[in-house]
Amino acid sequence: MSEPLNQCRGISRRAFVKAGVASVAGGGLIGIDVLSHAAEGDGDASQQGALPRRKLGRTGLEVSIVSFGGASLYYGPRGKLPQKEIDAIIGCAVDEGINLIDTSYGYGDGVNEATIGNALKGKRDKVIILSKGPWGPMKPMKEMLETSLRRLQTDHIEIYGLHGLDLTEDLAEKFIEKHLPDLVKAKEEGKISHIAGTGHLATTAMMRFIQTGLMEVIAVPINPVRREFLEQVVPMARKMDIGVVGMKVFHFGKLSQPVPELAGILGTDRDEFIRRTLRFSLAQDVACVIPGFTTVEEVKTAAAIGRGFAGLSPEEEKAMSVGREKSAEKVCRICGHCLPCPARISVPDVLRLELNARHYGLQAWAKRDYGRQKVKADACTECGECTKKCPHGVPAMELVLRAKSTLS
Ligand code: SF4
Ligand code: SF4
Repeated sequence: MSEPLNQCRGISRRAFVKAGVASVAGGGLIGIDVLSHAAEGDGDASQQGALPRRKLGRTGLEVSIVSFGGASLYYGPRGKLPQKEIDAIIGCAVDEGINLIDTSYGYGDGVNEATIGNALKGKRDKVIILSKGPWGPMKPMKEMLETSLRRLQTDHIEIYGLHGLDLTEDLAEKFIEKHLPDLVKAKEEGKISHIAGTGHLATTAMMRFIQTGLMEVIAVPINPVRREFLEQVVPMARKMDIGVVGMKVFHFGKLSQPVPELAGILGTDRDEFIRRTLRFSLAQDVACVIPGFTTVEEVKTAAAIGRGFAGLSPEEEKAMSVGREKSAEKVCRICGHCLPCPARISVPDVLRLELNARHYGLQAWAKRDYGRQKVKADACTECGECTKKCPHGVPAMELVLRAKSTLS
């Protein structure tokens, strides 16, 4: 057992509460009082038994309800962590009963996979690895998988797939044709066990991938603010017994801090924000959630919340239903079918921001992001083309025009 792992095991509750720190890590954000809150709300979770596991769809795997989004080890507030710290954090995670670690071929140009591979020496059999090849100008999938295997120092990855399926429908079709056969072959050869896809924005593309029948695991955003995947994708995936991994638990696009606008849903301070968002995500129809961690204290805090989790209280249910009552509205799926706009407005982006401002009260954040759009809604000539082209019945022009007042 390495020294850092002893540190994880040996830390007393008092010392841990004292030593706790706050950080943000690819969505990971844990503070000192979280454990105190967990103890109040969930019983003294730190003293309870094993971290519960849930079935990961039809894969036959069982995963810890709190698992590990490994990107935090490279993209956290302190950047790439030293190997020694990574060893400690992963050692602690394993010790706490966390048994799934997510990474990607593309994170940190491969450094993330490599450092996780190093940290898993002697522990590989205790952990399910979820990795994936990036989208964009991709190398052949076969080549990426071989590289991932080498970096992770293993001859087999439990779950491997396509990263960031935030594609228009046309591109999704091309991806299916080009990359899925390679994944099927890798599965036949025993290099991977299950095929996965991850997406952050475009629900339509994800649904198209699910329809192939080849997806066994998906990783999608699950949080109280962006509900598109929860409403459109998760029910479809679960009907097909696909395992759902919840990501972006604390990370709503560029929003990774509690903001006053969301106080009603997520509380007013960081600790409350963490506790509520993690509990919200655990209450959904997901196999696990994958917050990022940058310290052993964060691992222990999240694991304690997971161990003590027994569903949302009626008060939490009520607070977190904000936005849900509007779900019957036709929400933009960021599919891009309405493009090009003759006025060169990025309609999907404008609609996404308008939705965040109007549905969830995130005006300040949405306005900031809208300010970076090259062409604003003011340029709309009201030609009506976007509404006409939308196959999902979204009143796109109306929403673009509404964005003029919502976002300006
Ligand atoms: S209605 Fe406006 S936003 Fe829609 S396509 Fe025409 S100019 Fe573009
Ligand atoms: S408005 Fe319609 S076509 Fe345009 S991105 Fe949204 S869902 Fe797709």
